[in-house]
Amino acid sequence: MYPQSIDIEVDVGDGLIFDCMEEINGFWISFDLFDIEEFELLERVRVKRKLIDDLKWIIKDVKKVAKDLNIQVPHFALACYFNPLNRVLYCIVDKRKEIVYLRLPMVIVDGYTTIDVDADEYDHLIYHELMHAKDCLEGRFPSCGVIIPGENPELDLITSLWHFSIEGRLERSGLPHRSREKVIEIEYEWARELKPSKNYITNEFFEKFRNKLWGKEVTFEELQSLLSNLRKDKV
Ligand SMILES: [Zn+2]
Repeated sequence: MYPQSIDIEVDVGDGLIFDCMEEINGFWISFDLFDIEEFELLERVRVKRKLIDDLKWIIKDVKKVAKDLNIQVPHFALACYFNPLNRVLYCIVDKRKEIVYLRLPMVIVDGYTTIDVDADEYDHLIYHELMHAKDCLEGRFPSCGVIIPGENPELDLITSLWHFSIEGRLERSGLPHRSREKVIEIEYEWARELKPSKNYITNEFFEKFRNKLWGKEVTFEELQSLLSNLRKDKV
C-alpha cells in the first residue's frame, strides 16, 4: 500500500507540535530533513518510495515491540530526523494518551534508510523507548512532552534513574536490554555533563540507585522524592 498523504498536527504538549504528512501502515509520519537538497531529492517519487519501503520495516519492528510490551494506543506518530547535528531521540505520549510519539534520528546507508544506531543496539533501542511510553500510558509517569532529554537537568536525572527500572524490567522479561554495568557507565557519563554540575553524582551514587531500582516498577513521584530527600541530606 502506497502511503496516504495526510496533514495532521500532533500536539504532544508543552508547545511541541509535529506536522505529520504521511500515513504508512497506520503510523503517522513526520520528517525533518537536514537540508533542502535532500528534501528535493526525497520529493522525487522513486527515492521517496524507497524511503517509504524502508520505513515500513521500522514500523513493523515498532509494532512487534508494542505488542510484546502490551502497548495499545489509537495512534503512533514517528518523527524521522535526518539531522546529524540533532541526535536527540525520545518517546513520549500525548496528554490524552492517544498517541505514542517516537522521535528517531535516521541515517541513509548505502541507499537504505534506517535508525541511526549501531546494528546490535537497534532492537534494544525500540524496546527501551517504548518502555518509556508504557510507563506514561499506564500512569506511572506524566504524559505529554515534559521529559525531553537535555532540557532540564532535574528531569534528566530522574530519567537516568528511570532507566534502571526500565533496563531491569526488560532483563527480567528476557527482552533486549543493557547490562547493569553498561547502564551505570552510560548514565554516569551523561549525568556528569549536566549543568549546573552536581557533586553528589558519582559512580557510587548510581550504583546505590541501580541496586534499589533495578527492575522495579517506579513512578515519577517516587523518583522525584528520592532525589529531593537526597538533596536534603547534602545541604
Ligand atoms: Zn531512555
